[in-house]
Amino acid sequence: MRKNLMEILCCPVCKSELTLSVTEESGEEVLEGSLRCPACGVDYPISEGIPNLLPQTGCED
Ligand SMILES: [Zn+2]
Repeated sequence: MRKNLMEILCCPVCKSELTLSVTEESGEEVLEGSLRCPACGVDYPISEGIPNLLPQTGCED
């Protein structure tokens, strides 16, 4: 994902701004890292350039 995508990304749960941490990048492109929601205390992974913003709620009933 491009770093400027941060301007439109927000937490899918609470709509807060996300904090980007990059572990691997190429120019303006983030390849590996995470997006953290400080309000929820949740990290959303970025893998192979794709941010996974699915809410990480448990599946158990
Ligand atoms: Zn949140």
